[in-house]
Amino acid sequence: DQTLDKLDPEVAAAVGAELARQRDTLEMIASENFAPQAVLEAQGTVLTNKYAEGYPGRRYYGGCEHVDVVEQLAIDRAKALFGAEHANVQPHSGAQANTAVYFALLKPGDTILGLDLAHGGHLTHGMKLNYSGKILNAVAYHVREEDGTVDYDEVEKLAREHQPKMLVAGWSAYPRQLDFARFRQIADEVGALLLVDMAHFAGLVAAGLHPNPVPYADVVTTTTHKTLGGPRGGLILAKEEYGKKINSAVFPGMQGGPLEHVIAGKAVALKMAAGEEFADRQRRTVAGARILADRLTRPDCTQTGVNVLSGGTDVHLVLVDLVNSQLNGQEAEDRLHEIGITVNRNAVPNDPRPPMVTSGLRVGTPALATRGFDEADFTEVADIIAEALKPEYDAAALGERVQALVRKHPLYPGI
Ligand code: PLP
Repeated sequence: DQTLDKLDPEVAAAVGAELARQRDTLEMIASENFAPQAVLEAQGTVLTNKYAEGYPGRRYYGGCEHVDVVEQLAIDRAKALFGAEHANVQPHSGAQANTAVYFALLKPGDTILGLDLAHGGHLTHGMKLNYSGKILNAVAYHVREEDGTVDYDEVEKLAREHQPKMLVAGWSAYPRQLDFARFRQIADEVGALLLVDMAHFAGLVAAGLHPNPVPYADVVTTTTHKTLGGPRGGLILAKEEYGKKINSAVFPGMQGGPLEHVIAGKAVALKMAAGEEFADRQRRTVAGARILADRLTRPDCTQTGVNVLSGGTDVHLVLVDLVNSQLNGQEAEDRLHEIGITVNRNAVPNDPRPPMVTSGLRVGTPALATRGFDEADFTEVADIIAEALKPEYDAAALGERVQALVRKHPLYPGI
């Protein structure tokens, strides 16, 4: 018997326990989602056996006629969904997508200008321990102290001063939409390329709830597993003129054989992302985040030092500001974990507490929206979180309210 259960009960047990954890808790990590069953199925296919170095129609291995179909579907759907001239669906992850773009279009020592990690940027936007920060000369822009939004005047000033080869717009923890036209104008002024990393908000773009960066940027990267709701992986969209360079930076530059089973999952996710059900899910995602931001800015929260960065949200996440609260990020994360809600603590700009503790939480709604949560459900979630962050809270009662929501929206009923 070659089934996982029989062959390797230890791994099977851990997988089963993880499914139970996902089912029995409220997943509110902003970068996570629940891949649909069709995507899980695609990833579990025999496509994992196939070597397919190269690109559809131009492979270095025989027998690629069927994976060519799959990869071409993924490419065509990505281009159609986002209106892009060129797509590369092979990056194994978002980090590799970004690194491939740098590798394709920059030289070691070139300057990039990206959002500071501590202000919501991603490691691959020039953090000093990341490949991007080691190989490139990374300069960081910031959000404004007053309202927590990107300081475009500073971006422009730094761009004039440092003459970057590439401007990087995009974020991992930022609750507002970016002004792509402004980034384009600054990039043009200094002759820089514009890379937009839409890893977090790609699903909102696909649903028409967020401006599409593709018309403004030279290159757009994304992950496929966050709001987009597909398999764990990366994707690069580009103007046609950069297509060749990007393809050869991914393979043979950075990767060997593509993960065709994951690419099959990407194709399925991109098909779903063009549909009305997906758009409805993204609308509930954004509505849920707004409900949470509204709830956490009411006086009963703000009086105890709980607040929300930038005063609200336009996207799928809320950044809870605990600078003035007795609770630090670690304690708040632990409290929510205790009642069955999973979030991650997150440094706020100019955080007075150490990075392992922090003064913030990043709370996202995509996974719950995928689970079917509507505005009434999100109102209940927001109330539970507001209560849990108060000086006095009843963990047992809040935990029961979480379990009622969990039971109302069963996860993966078919598995
Ligand atoms: N870019 C942004 C903006 C992200 O938030 C992330 C992931 O958190 C990545 C890239 C990297 O994606 P991955 O974890 O797939 O390497």
